[in-house]
Amino acid sequence: MTGKIIKGIAGFYYIHTSEDRVYECKAKGIFRNRKIKPLVGDNVEIDVVDEGNRIGNIIDVLERKNELIRPAVANVDQAMVIFAASQPEPNFNLLDRFLIMMSRQKVPCIICFNKSDIVDGEELKLLEETYWKCGFDIVFISALTGEGFDQIKQRIENKTTVLAGPSGVGKSTLINLIKPEANMETGEISRKIERGRHTTRHSELFHVSGSTYIMDTPGFTSLYIDNMEKEELRNYFVEFDEFEPYCKFNGCAHINEPGCGVKEALEQGHISKIRYDNYVFLYNELKDKKKY
Ligand code: GDP
Ligand code: ZN
Repeated sequence: MTGKIIKGIAGFYYIHTSEDRVYECKAKGIFRNRKIKPLVGDNVEIDVVDEGNRIGNIIDVLERKNELIRPAVANVDQAMVIFAASQPEPNFNLLDRFLIMMSRQKVPCIICFNKSDIVDGEELKLLEETYWKCGFDIVFISALTGEGFDQIKQRIENKTTVLAGPSGVGKSTLINLIKPEANMETGEISRKIERGRHTTRHSELFHVSGSTYIMDTPGFTSLYIDNMEKEELRNYFVEFDEFEPYCKFNGCAHINEPGCGVKEALEQGHISKIRYDNYVFLYNELKDKKKY
C-alpha cells in the first residue's frame, strides 16, 4: 500500500493513505539499498502489520520530486507566504527574504495579503503592482470575511503547499477556513500559550481533501540568507533583468556604478523603491558577512 508521510515523531511516521486512513509506521532506514531518512511529504510504500490498530512498516521511500531544508519537507509543489496588508504592516524585507529562499530552492511562491478588509483599494493596488512585476502570483483575501478565499482554494487544490508567514497576519484563521477540523487557535491569548509549544512543534502536513495537503510552519520574525555570494542576489530580482542591458559595466551590481540601467529605471519609477532598497540592504548584508 502507498501513502504520504504527514508527520514524524520520535522514530514513528504517520502515513496518510488514499483511503483516508492514517497508519503509524516505523522505518528501517534502508530502502532498496539506499540509506535515506524519510521526510514529511515523502510518498512511501508500507506493509500493514496490524490493520485493526493501523500499524505498519515503511518498506520503501518513493522518488522525491524535491526536498526543502527549511522547513524539512519533501515533494512540495508550492509555498504560500502570508502577510497582512495592514495590522501588522507588511515587512517587505522579510517578504523578499522569503521569496528569495523559496526561489533558490526552486519552489514557486504565491503571495497572499490577508486582512484586505481593513485597507483601501489604492493600497492594495500598490502592493499588487510591486510584486506582480516581479513575476509572483498575488492574492488578496480576508480570512475574517472569507472574501477572496475561493482564489486560495483554487490554487491549493491537488497540491502540497507550505504555508508561511510572520505571526499575527491571520495564518491560523486562514488554515481554519481551509480545514476547519485542524482547529487552529487564533489570536493573542492562544499565541502566548503556544509560545512554549513552538519549541517542540514538528512539521506536519494537513490532509485537506483528495491530494490536497497543506503544511503549516511556525510564524517567523527573521530569516537569514546564508551561503550566498552577493553576486547571486540579483538573480532573484527578475524585474531588474530588462534594464540590465543598459548598464554601462558588465556584471554591474546596480549599487554605486555610474551609468546603471537599473538605477535609472528606479528613478523613472519602473522599478519599485521598496524592492530596490531591499536589494541594496541584502547585498550589503551578504558583503559584510563575507568579511568575517
Ligand atoms: P496568526 O498568528 O498568523 O496565526 O494569526 P491569527 O489567525 O491568530 O490572527 C491574528 C489576529 O488577526 C486575530 O485577532 C484575527 O481575528 C485577526 N484576523 C485574521 N484574519 C483577519 C482578516 O482577514 N481581517 C481582519 N481584520 N482581521 C483578521
Ligand atoms: Zn546596473
